[in-house]
Amino acid sequence: MAVPSQLASPPSHAVATIDSINPATQEINAQFTATQPADLTAIFARARTSQKDWAARPIRERCAMLRQLRDAIFARRDEIADVITRETGKPRVEAIFAEILLALDTADFLARQVPRWLCPERVPHHNLAMKAKSGWLEYDPLGVVAIISPWNYPFSIPMAQVIPALATGNAVLLKPSELTPWCGQLVGELVEQAKIPPGLVQVLQGRGELGAAIIEAGPDKVFFTGSVATGQRIAQACAQKLIPSVLELGGKDAMIVLADADLDIASSAAVWGGFMNCGETCISVERIYVEQPAAERFTQLCVEKTKKLRVGPATDPDAEIGPMIRLTQLEKVEVQLRDAVERGAQVLTGGTRRPDLGANFLQPAVVTIVDHSMRLMRDETFGPVIAIRAVANVEEAVALANDSPFGLSASVWTTDNRRGREIASRIRAGSVMVNDLASYYGIAEAPHGGLGASGWGHTHSRLGLLEMVRVKYIDVDRLPRIAKSWWFGYTAELAAAANAFVEVLFAPSWRRRLAAMTKKHGARGVVFRRDRI
Ligand code: NAD
Repeated sequence: MAVPSQLASPPSHAVATIDSINPATQEINAQFTATQPADLTAIFARARTSQKDWAARPIRERCAMLRQLRDAIFARRDEIADVITRETGKPRVEAIFAEILLALDTADFLARQVPRWLCPERVPHHNLAMKAKSGWLEYDPLGVVAIISPWNYPFSIPMAQVIPALATGNAVLLKPSELTPWCGQLVGELVEQAKIPPGLVQVLQGRGELGAAIIEAGPDKVFFTGSVATGQRIAQACAQKLIPSVLELGGKDAMIVLADADLDIASSAAVWGGFMNCGETCISVERIYVEQPAAERFTQLCVEKTKKLRVGPATDPDAEIGPMIRLTQLEKVEVQLRDAVERGAQVLTGGTRRPDLGANFLQPAVVTIVDHSMRLMRDETFGPVIAIRAVANVEEAVALANDSPFGLSASVWTTDNRRGREIASRIRAGSVMVNDLASYYGIAEAPHGGLGASGWGHTHSRLGLLEMVRVKYIDVDRLPRIAKSWWFGYTAELAAAANAFVEVLFAPSWRRRLAAMTKKHGARGVVFRRDRI
């Protein structure tokens, strides 16, 4: 990828280019010109100008452009899959299902829903004193929003935020991860191809310092997806400037397997849920709590199925587990595995490097005899490891699942769906699936968002869309020629009438309410006041 040369050379300390590196081979795929913080003033000015025009367009016109974006993604889907696999190492099947399909569905779904969802909404008034008014909610764009993305789903995560931001009339400054600049660049190209006006989505290439500079420059909201440590820095930076944020952070998802579960299905799910995207998924299965009577069989099935998985680069169409994104990420996983083993855990399979395939390949691991003193059970692993612990009963499983600072998602496995739902309600997480896992992320109607260390706010669904708007309340009084009874001109009679009004509404018995209604207190005079100031 050629680096455009027309940009001024950066100061000596600033990064000039961002490399896209193939994690399977370490080869440089492409290089991209880094955005210089000094250019942010002009970038923001351009975004603000385009946003004003964009917000003034009818919602249906904006949605028509989302359909054009959908069509552009569809037309270039093979190329997009190539870029994703080369830049992340993930298998092509995963690039299509978890990235391209999700982006297409988001554009299609929001193009249909947004005109309805953004219609001004009537707000009925409960308070009897306010019945002569009509209230409305209106949804205004925020302005210029910053979307700061991670590398693990470098196409679907930014797309699932850029699309609702555009639909709601905002301009976007997208900073993709410095590990996946090519996917970020593609988002910009597709937006351009869809004829979405220039300046509305600007892709800014750079590292963390650039992300920090974007926030410093004052966007109207920050949508951040990434690690807890960066999320904390971003929350502090936003707090300094009172910028609202949505933080989609890490996870430590629990899977609860009851003794009555179909163990063949549950073990296949555990292996896929733990190892898809090489375990580098915020909602991947990291901790499994299985009821004692099923533990041995379930563990044995997980080990057998894990041993059958084909590890290899995405150029091998049969490979199911690709490389980890960087060697440093692989080393973090090894540290957790060593700590667990030193504390008594047993690695039943995997956990070893595959230098025959490349530096970043790790054989997927199944670990047992684990407890919560181990980092493997407390910290996010973000690698191909599933840890299985036998529990005496559901109570213990729920208590252990909830014993975590994270609260992103979880799953419950049982043939009794009613019981599954009841257990799901007791788990402290943003989403809980019964007899499936992670797939809710592909349901456009389902909100995604965590609690505790997993962050705050939502993406996806109507809740995610509403994060992109400023909700305005408008109230219209239907009796414009009548003064309000609560205005100045206070007298003892007004106080008595106000008290009677409260009694009529809230006295604990009907008898008292009726008495208050019939008592002489000048209520009529209160409604049609002549003594006001
Ligand atoms: P990261 O925190 O290292 O980086 C994420 C983004 O933040 C990158 O674009 C990076 O350049 C930028 N950044 C770094 N420092 C910054 C700063 N000070 N100010 C502004 N921006 C800054 O995360 P990562 O390694 O790219 O992603 C992996 C993490 O993301 C995991 O913890 C994973 O669980 C989490 N994640 C969460 C979700 C979710 O929906 N909850 C989804 C995917 C990934």
